[in-house]
Amino acid sequence: MQRLKGIGVSPGIVSGRAVILIQRAQVLRYRIATSRIEHELQRLDDSRAVSREQLLDIRARVAQRRPELASLFDAQLLMLDDPMLVPHATDIVREQHVNAEWAVQQVFDGFSAVFDEVADPYLRERKGDVADLVGRLRMNLRQGVAMPRDLLREVDEASVLIADELTPSLAAQVDWTKVRGFATDAGSRTYHTAILARSLDVPAIVGLHDASQHVQPGDLVVLDGSASELIIDPGPEDLARAAHSEDYCPGVDAEAQRHLPATTADGVRIRLEANIEFPDDLAAARYAGAEGIGLYRSEFLLAGSSLGANEPDGAPEEERQYEIYRSMLEGMAPSAVTVRTFDVDEDQLASRLAQHPLAGGWFTEEERASRQGLRGLRLSLTRPELFQVQLRALLRAARHGNLRIMFPFVSSVEQVRHARAMIAEARAELARRGEDVPPVPVGIMIEIPAAAYTADLLAREVDFFTIGTNDLIQYCLAVDRADERVSWLYEPLHPAILRIIVMVSRAARRRRIPVSLCGEMASDPALLTLLVGLGLTEFSMTPGAIPVAKEVLAELRSDELRMLARRILRLPTIEEIERELLSVVSKSLMTRSHL
Ligand code: PEP
Ligand code: MG
Repeated sequence: MQRLKGIGVSPGIVSGRAVILIQRAQVLRYRIATSRIEHELQRLDDSRAVSREQLLDIRARVAQRRPELASLFDAQLLMLDDPMLVPHATDIVREQHVNAEWAVQQVFDGFSAVFDEVADPYLRERKGDVADLVGRLRMNLRQGVAMPRDLLREVDEASVLIADELTPSLAAQVDWTKVRGFATDAGSRTYHTAILARSLDVPAIVGLHDASQHVQPGDLVVLDGSASELIIDPGPEDLARAAHSEDYCPGVDAEAQRHLPATTADGVRIRLEANIEFPDDLAAARYAGAEGIGLYRSEFLLAGSSLGANEPDGAPEEERQYEIYRSMLEGMAPSAVTVRTFDVDEDQLASRLAQHPLAGGWFTEEERASRQGLRGLRLSLTRPELFQVQLRALLRAARHGNLRIMFPFVSSVEQVRHARAMIAEARAELARRGEDVPPVPVGIMIEIPAAAYTADLLAREVDFFTIGTNDLIQYCLAVDRADERVSWLYEPLHPAILRIIVMVSRAARRRRIPVSLCGEMASDPALLTLLVGLGLTEFSMTPGAIPVAKEVLAELRSDELRMLARRILRLPTIEEIERELLSVVSKSLMTRSHL
């Protein structure tokens, strides 16, 4: 038995067989039953045959135009038959009972290490050829199996996913009825995927460093999100605890609380809405008693998008999005649904839309060496066709409910004006088609310090603000929220964060526009009480956090919270702030909030 400690980000305890996903290499590693080994080897063989045909075909085309380059492909064809490549991978499948993709990757890693040692630059360059060939083999292995979701379907039993990292787009494709929980090497508490785990109600641990190397596919593991522990080869006691996990109780009588509106002990109404990633989460939001959807992260729509290269005009995509938005609005009516337009960066867009013309042209790898800049609204403004499709679908859907459109990652008034002009353009196009659409409130996320510092100016341009503390904290404190080496510096109670929140909410109030807060901070009951003290009355959070928030707020008076906030705003250190917060909010709450 071995116990690995990480950061528990979603509570609950489950057991299952480990499935390993190495996302950086896009390779899933799982155990193959003896009866399926021949099938696996057949896949490997088929992949080699298809790769050979493709290489011969490319070679013939290249030879016509650039005969001197054709020999490059001769080298790859020779490698395809090298006993160190496919036959070696075959041995790995047979001996280790692992899937073919993983075996091919193992072979490549072995080659890679050897090439790195070679002094001769010509020979070192050959590593690129091997990488190219291995990439081709893996691509062809995926044919008919396609995505990790499908690969996970091949896994026979209930499993626990162990990954180096798990991006939200991949997490969105996992069949969570099969995968009971997950653990990742990377990450922190506000890691997007951790947020997702909480909204899916899947136990999860992040920040385990090297669990994906340590755990072998098929190992029996117990994942205890509440105790932040992954147990490899568990004993009967841990297995029994996991078997009784259905008895897990979050500590509040959610049933009784969930249909009552949230109020403080002295009767101040607090509006609690839900953050969701999938249209299917609407049920969870309604069940939790959410008063609306405060944040729908629409970029999840792009994962698994049906966009095909033969749909250049975007018409089927507009229809697909329209239907999804419409069903959400109808499902939530008369409550509001705030749809945030796509918040992806270029790499994410590339991985989701592949070669589709709507995705626009790509910058080269070097040009986009920095991954910070082109994201959210900024990216949408550089992809007008894609953006127009989304805006038209949204405006059409607005007829069926209470829609609000929100732009992410805004840093200037110019961007807001540009985006509003794009909405006007979408509206004009719909009018040309004879479609009349109602007015829709337009708001922005305040999640970049520049936006916070110009909140008074931005407030004149929009109908509402939503403070996104997940990003605001990372950009304000210069801490990458997914980097575990600095994640301990990611601190919502930093005096700078509290001040910036006060500044934004004052700017909104002066202009009489609504302001809510939708970062993970709001899901933490202790921090929520402080935010109420700072003057905020609207929040959007993971649906599962809503019942707890209601219970906690009902116990506290708003005037006491305001005084608490006033005292806290004068304190210079996080430690003192935390101590002061604990004087009002019980220790048990604080502990529970940090899982
Ligand atoms: C935020 O930044 O606080 C936010 C809610 O957006 P996301 O976590 O999706 O970036
Ligand atoms: Mg954000």
